[in-house]
Amino acid sequence: MRQAIGVDIGGGSIRVSLFDENGSELDSHHTKTPEHLDNDSFLEVLVESIRPLVKNIIGIGVGSPGPLNNETGVMLTSANMAGLKNLPIKSVLQKEFSLPVFYENDANCAALGEAIFGTYKNTESQLILTLGTGIGGGFVKQGKLYTGYLGNGIEIGHTTSVIGGALCGCGVHGCVESYFSTKGFLNRYFEKTNTKLPNAEAFFSLVRSNDSESKSILEFGTKALAHAVRNAIQLLNPEAVIFVGGITKSYDLFGALLEKEIRSTIFSVLNDRLLLGPGGNISGTLGAASLVFVKEKN
Ligand SMILES: [Zn+2]
Repeated sequence: MRQAIGVDIGGGSIRVSLFDENGSELDSHHTKTPEHLDNDSFLEVLVESIRPLVKNIIGIGVGSPGPLNNETGVMLTSANMAGLKNLPIKSVLQKEFSLPVFYENDANCAALGEAIFGTYKNTESQLILTLGTGIGGGFVKQGKLYTGYLGNGIEIGHTTSVIGGALCGCGVHGCVESYFSTKGFLNRYFEKTNTKLPNAEAFFSLVRSNDSESKSILEFGTKALAHAVRNAIQLLNPEAVIFVGGITKSYDLFGALLEKEIRSTIFSVLNDRLLLGPGGNISGTLGAASLVFVKEKN
């Protein structure tokens, strides 16, 4: 059976896994990346994290946060890794390992992995939202990933859901991820209470303990997210909308309101077919490896 490597570059770590075509993980490797790495030292760490798993594979798929250029295979900048600029991921890996290398943003990888291996794999089109530090998005239609210009499509986290709203990391006010994401929740909570929370778990445990500030932030954020999703559904008409990422662990706290708000605002002809809910637990590395399986098939 064919095998491929998937690489998931995140803020703070590089995960590498070897998969077979059924999506079974055969081996994996996790490297913590020191902060303040420059291009050369980061690429060295990347190559050495991949090397131990390179055996009998048809290619390497890589996912990372954007913005990027998926044609040249360059990560342009990274909000979470400030030392990296114009990082030539694809050419360095191709040269080092002499294998096909495919590179897309991590949300697109997650979307493709979810579409091929996840809960809603039998639907004809899927819009996938990754709810985590920010919000990523991907759209797959009939097994084909819509990547947009140079791989920067479906950046649903940076669509406006509150005009004149809070300042987003991208420099624009009112993006949906300023209201619904780990960063968004923590920033909004700090604004209201002057208290810095360490992570999303801390925020959601406040919600569970019935804390009124965190509850109202979550409720408003959920509505902001619902309207961003509504906009996307009206534009793309996906058969399934799937929520993945760390925040979906707390889906029980916001899922019902989210689904109700979405379903009550989209055209009923779309509602009749639409499937909506949290996805399977497809890893970022499997998403990246699925780039190889899909591209090498076509
Ligand atoms: Zn933004």
